[in-house]
Amino acid sequence: MRFVDFILGTAAIFALVIAVYLFSTDIGLANSVQNMTVDKKNKLNKTVERLSPFERKEKKKADTRYRRYDQEDSPWKYIVIHHSATRQGNAKVFREYHKKKMGLDGLAYHFVIGNGTYSKNGEIEYGEKWHRQQPGTHCHNANMNSQSIGICLVGNLDKDKATEKQMIALSQLVRDLQRRYDIPNGNVIGHKDADPGRTECPGKNFSLNVFEARLRVR
Ligand SMILES: [Zn+2]
Repeated sequence: MRFVDFILGTAAIFALVIAVYLFSTDIGLANSVQNMTVDKKNKLNKTVERLSPFERKEKKKADTRYRRYDQEDSPWKYIVIHHSATRQGNAKVFREYHKKKMGLDGLAYHFVIGNGTYSKNGEIEYGEKWHRQQPGTHCHNANMNSQSIGICLVGNLDKDKATEKQMIALSQLVRDLQRRYDIPNGNVIGHKDADPGRTECPGKNFSLNVFEARLRVR
């Protein structure tokens, strides 16, 4: 091998190594920027609703249906308020319980309002039945299930009171649903009114009269 060939060969290999290095770091950089954006997006979505990609898709579909309903063809005529009768929990915890212990096909309620234990204090979680605009399984009375929206306050309201943040979230959610579906205050009821004699839900410390007074203040 001539000396010149040796130099040229080495230079070519060197250039190739540099090119590969630049190319790979470029890709690496692009990937990390992309990941950062995805992380940022996920983080934002999580703080808003904590939905899995599947749930997000379902919610998008439901939102379209939700907008499509006008007051006459919506099935929603009542809003039924529940307590979880547990001091802690969130939608996920109750979904597991409803599926595994009660043999139901998922979370019985349409909405769950957190008390700061497993979800944020006053956080509203959407159930899959709301995303799909399906009847809940929150009452014994099947007729009531087919025409009512079920909202559960996390907490044992026989022993404790709902937190102020839960009550604010509940008022806002109920008013929004009332407006959308033209549901009068008289049709916002406690679970015990939907299933008389079968339950004390939503608990001794939840006063429907006090809550209705809140709804009247606009
Ligand atoms: Zn109940």
